[in-house]
Amino acid sequence: MKRQINEGEKVKLLSKYRQEDGFNHCFVDNEKIENEKDIQFDHIEPYAKVEETSLDNIAPVCKKHNLAKKDMTLSEYRDKLGMEKFFERFESEGKQAKLNDVLTLKFKNDFGFPAQYDFDSKQMKITVKYYQDKNKIHPPEIQTNQVYQCPITKMNYYYALIPTQNILNDGIENADLELQPRPLNYEHLWDLYRHLRVNPQLQPSICRVVGNEGCALVFDGQHKAAAKIWAGANLIEAKVYINPDKVWLMRANLIAHDKLKQLRFYSSILADKMAQLYGVNWQRYVETAARKSEKGFCNFIKYAENKSDEKPDKQIEAFLMNSILKSDGNKFSQFVAPENKSGKQYAISWDSMKKYYFRYFLVKPPLEVEIDSKEDYRNQEIANNIRLLDILSNQILEDKWNPSENNEIHKKAERIFRPGAIMSWLPMLRDVIYNKLDLINPEEAHQILFRNIPEDKWGLIEKFVGRMFSHQIWSERDTNIDVTFGNKNKEYTKDLFGKKGFTTQWILGINTT
Ligand SMILES: [Zn+2]
Repeated sequence: MKRQINEGEKVKLLSKYRQEDGFNHCFVDNEKIENEKDIQFDHIEPYAKVEETSLDNIAPVCKKHNLAKKDMTLSEYRDKLGMEKFFERFESEGKQAKLNDVLTLKFKNDFGFPAQYDFDSKQMKITVKYYQDKNKIHPPEIQTNQVYQCPITKMNYYYALIPTQNILNDGIENADLELQPRPLNYEHLWDLYRHLRVNPQLQPSICRVVGNEGCALVFDGQHKAAAKIWAGANLIEAKVYINPDKVWLMRANLIAHDKLKQLRFYSSILADKMAQLYGVNWQRYVETAARKSEKGFCNFIKYAENKSDEKPDKQIEAFLMNSILKSDGNKFSQFVAPENKSGKQYAISWDSMKKYYFRYFLVKPPLEVEIDSKEDYRNQEIANNIRLLDILSNQILEDKWNPSENNEIHKKAERIFRPGAIMSWLPMLRDVIYNKLDLINPEEAHQILFRNIPEDKWGLIEKFVGRMFSHQIWSERDTNIDVTFGNKNKEYTKDLFGKKGFTTQWILGINTT
């Protein structure tokens, strides 16, 4: 229920909030409200938080913002605009925000203060000194906590209320294993922020501490911590592991996110982690096996290490996709969205690359062929994929994909990358390459790029890709085409391709009449 204020109270509020320039300013953005008629009043904090209706919870707001904020209170709306601005800044710089960026926003350089840990394993107690500055000048705040041991992993942990300035995100860039590489997501952060301002936090953020001194590193529950920090919390509720096995935590975290899908990892990040895990697992495998293969690696993970839920084949696949899409020279990658849902500036999502592209151009792991033997063409396959994507990028995307202009050239590129289209032309492209490589055994189609491809053949491939996208179906004005390509229905597209004369035979220039 909204509190009504009378004329006398209004006068009181106007004088209370009048600033030095003699004007009242809008609570939301602190802009001067020149005309007193445009001043309105509303609640600062949600009722559930303050539980009082005194004038202290009421502030002036400009007409425009009061209308725009809908059912939010003034502080909520102000913080929403602030959060939007924060994320927009990162997006415009092509970066992604993480917990440390929220800490920077709130504390400038004053965070990441060290803490000292004294773990008494006999008493199962840990005494922590939380320093209040980087140079340990001020006396620390001291807490002693009960330590517990996980019966399965034997890892030690405790629960604590950690001063906000003593935490950091657990994601050292370019570290061999990055435990928390996930960026913050605006919608998720905003929802949690609103929720946690008036509700208790049921699950703590999960941290680890390494050695005897350092910050508590948050590796799970990053959004909860960020939402609390945004709302001005001085303490973060945390479950803290003491010197845990990093690989084990990463596995547990990865499996939990992959299986439970609490908040889906961005696909490319999941692939990153999988690929990192592959590296660690691979090291262990190499030490044991004489004859090495992808198949042997999978068996090693499944049986020798007894970790069947780790999906070793997915680790290899992620490693291969990463090697291709994240290679320095890959010009196609800039058009691939890292999330599963595609943003406007991207032509295709990471998920769609996996579903529609790699299924035709990457031999599905695990292979039985001995690694680095004469029959192993994985490295060539990676290089060939980079080259093929480069050709595609060059002919249909670079200097053409331009969503802000949305001109005819862009529309053509967009049509080519509609889901219904890509799922149909990618297998055709595979068939064209099969033909140009003069292959005759149909089995070879399933490992189309798993081979050496001579330079003159690349010339041919390039030429026929050009022909493929010169067909009028990509530029013809016919809304029926866009409607059909909007459907993820291969049969509809095939029908349409046939009707318009866009067939593999046409691309190859084979006369079928
Ligand atoms: Zn305003």
